[in-house]
Amino acid sequence: MKIDVLTIFPDLFEAVLKWGVISRAIESGLIEFGAVDLRDFTDDRHRTTDDYPFGGGGGLVMKAGPILRAVDALRANGPVPYVIYTSPQGEIFDNTKARELSRKERLLFICGRYEGIDERVMSIVDEELSIGDFVLSGGEIPVLLMVEAISRFVPGVVGDMESVVNDSFYRDLLDHPHYTRPRNIRGLEVPDVLLSGDHEKIEIFRRKKSLERTMERRPDIFLKHELDLYDKKAILSLFEELRKNVE
Ligand code: SAM
Repeated sequence: MKIDVLTIFPDLFEAVLKWGVISRAIESGLIEFGAVDLRDFTDDRHRTTDDYPFGGGGGLVMKAGPILRAVDALRANGPVPYVIYTSPQGEIFDNTKARELSRKERLLFICGRYEGIDERVMSIVDEELSIGDFVLSGGEIPVLLMVEAISRFVPGVVGDMESVVNDSFYRDLLDHPHYTRPRNIRGLEVPDVLLSGDHEKIEIFRRKKSLERTMERRPDIFLKHELDLYDKKAILSLFEELRKNVE
């Protein structure tokens, strides 16, 4: 998968993407990442990417010319990219969107700054995406966040696909709690069932925890979840626990 980003701060990406899972995906060629400096597509000697807004008012607006020229140049080189503008006014980015975008051959993100971009750039944008109902000063952090979430769904990026499938949201459930060594720390024990070696019991215990957490913390997600056999076994075990508590 190829991912390009149009930004006035290309160095910001280098610093973050050289760590962890995403850096290995880039090194191994599973993800081809390019941070493109918008200033390379300006047409004045000051390399200006912003200007005052027509109609007056405060703030600056990112000029359409450099963005449109940069998109043309990227389009002329390789597969046609799916163009995303990061914006607090867009549809909220979530796990489903990350999975959907991971199937695209090529993505091109445009990072806004100041008051945002000249509205006429929207004529070449396929989708506007937000990372939440708050306003940041630029689109770079939203892009990093989205690229990280999207790349986890690109086959091969996360070594163990089972862990991606078991992560929160994938099956409309939150993940279960995790424990590692030591078995006891400051008097806090690991639940016995996880040490039992009984895989069926462990799976039912984890599912029970996932269901409990999702019901408690995210009932909106829980309502979408379709119960499978393990969920049913986990719910039965929850009922049994409840009955024991009442008796
Ligand atoms: N005037 C714009 C508005 O109120 O809708 C906000 C502009 S913001 C200061 C500058 C840039 O940061 C935006 O163009 C966008 O690229 C990025 N940005 C800010 N908040 C964002 C969010 N919640 N999600 C995605 N991008 C965001």
